[in-house]
Amino acid sequence: MAEYIMALDAGTTSNRCMLFDRKGRVCAFAQKEFKQIYPRPGWVEHDPDEIWYSMVYVAREAMNSIGAVHSDIAAIGITNQRETAVVWDKISGKPVYNAIVWQCRRTSDYCNELKASGFSERIRLKTGLVVDAYFSGTKIRWILENVPGAMEKAEKGELLFGTVETWIIWKLTAGRVHVTDYSNASRTMMFNINTLEWDQDILRLLNIPASMLPEVMPSSCIYGMTDREVLGGPIAVSGAAGDQQASLFGQKCFNPGDIKNTYGTGCFMLMNTGKRPVFSDKGIVTTIAWGQGGEIDYALEGSVFSAGSVIQWLRDELKLIESAKDSEFLAGKVNDTNGCYVVPAFTGLGAPYWDQYARGTIVGITRGVNKYHIIRAALEAIAYQTNDVADAMKEASGFELRSIRVDGGASRNNLLMQMQADISSLTLYRGSNAETTALGAAFLAGLAVGFWSDKDDIINSVDMDQQSFIPALSEEKRSAGIREWHRAVQRSLEWAE
Ligand code: ADP
Repeated sequence: MAEYIMALDAGTTSNRCMLFDRKGRVCAFAQKEFKQIYPRPGWVEHDPDEIWYSMVYVAREAMNSIGAVHSDIAAIGITNQRETAVVWDKISGKPVYNAIVWQCRRTSDYCNELKASGFSERIRLKTGLVVDAYFSGTKIRWILENVPGAMEKAEKGELLFGTVETWIIWKLTAGRVHVTDYSNASRTMMFNINTLEWDQDILRLLNIPASMLPEVMPSSCIYGMTDREVLGGPIAVSGAAGDQQASLFGQKCFNPGDIKNTYGTGCFMLMNTGKRPVFSDKGIVTTIAWGQGGEIDYALEGSVFSAGSVIQWLRDELKLIESAKDSEFLAGKVNDTNGCYVVPAFTGLGAPYWDQYARGTIVGITRGVNKYHIIRAALEAIAYQTNDVADAMKEASGFELRSIRVDGGASRNNLLMQMQADISSLTLYRGSNAETTALGAAFLAGLAVGFWSDKDDIINSVDMDQQSFIPALSEEKRSAGIREWHRAVQRSLEWAE
């Protein structure tokens, strides 16, 4: 009887492998970084072959570390950096160009043209997304237009496209299986999330031949078996989801209204909205959470650009703290911010403001404001921004929020978590297992092969050992703080010229 599920986490800077047991415990772990390629300012690429080799390396390393062989592993689930585009030759298996990474801005001008030509609304209602260079569609178009001979080969059906999980599944199965899952398809800006098909209109607009595209499958089903050469014998590959959706699943946000927020460099908040897509005109995007158990679950997704990065700024630029962790202790030296607000609009503001010309500001400074107040205000800014996103989601979905499940590096900060509970008047649950993304991929893979029989079995078997943060601020103080925060945000808008 196979004891483990293998999760392969194809991240932006490293690949990781974890072996989980039925209780969701990490029994083996391996990680390997890979090269970031910056050919020009604002351009980011990865070498797809390096992604593949380092993934095989971590998979073997994790297995070897506990002496596991292929028959000990019930299934493999993959979670991945989303939107990153790989195009390769169907016969030789060689990429025709480096992977163009989600962060890469090379197609921004083309996206602006699409917007100026009035395509935004049509694309939003079909794909749930705002037109942006992040998403895969315009990256594929760039490769076809700029790599000599690529378009010709694509038209003859000789090239394949995939996001990173598609590439890895294709390699794991020695080129036998060319698939993606609904969650990843929904980040390409080519997939119609209403009809669940590649959108022929958009493909024509971007000039992308449909023959390149992978078959779109559920996030939890057997795609194929690994080639014997890769891990010593066949293992079922049976789960795939983009990183944020996998983390939503790993946080067991199985029901409509369930929300998770990941506090990393930025914040990613996703809300399960159930079996129908909910659209928002506040810049909260609509996406597919997963296809599982014969059904599709949708999600709303909102992000805060600068969250943990505010703490890095306090450390690296202002030198007010020595480590990110210190922010908790130092902010705790004062009981409030003494009327001071930090608006960390370093790169503009996202949902619900969407002002790329906003810039950071500190307001409300009086003679008594000291560094502890500023550190505290920086932490509060993370919580206020998150609260704005949560409010926009609440409005779009019509759901009453009860609680948020949290993860990510900055969620280790207890003071920040208590601020969030107070400002949002919601209970926060933080699990002891930090690996929610990989866990989500493992759950999806495990469900497909009966390792867990259903979602209830997961809920009962996997104990998340949660710590909770309960709101303790009076409604009067809470709404006064939010009002002041919004006044501070107004001061930061439309600053850059
Ligand atoms: P990412 O995946 O985006 O790299 P992580 O989840 O690893 O991010 O979290 C790292 C971020 O969290 C950094 O920006 C760091 O400043 C912030 N961070 C880490 N620990 C703390 C802490 N104790 N308090 C506040 N911020 C923290």
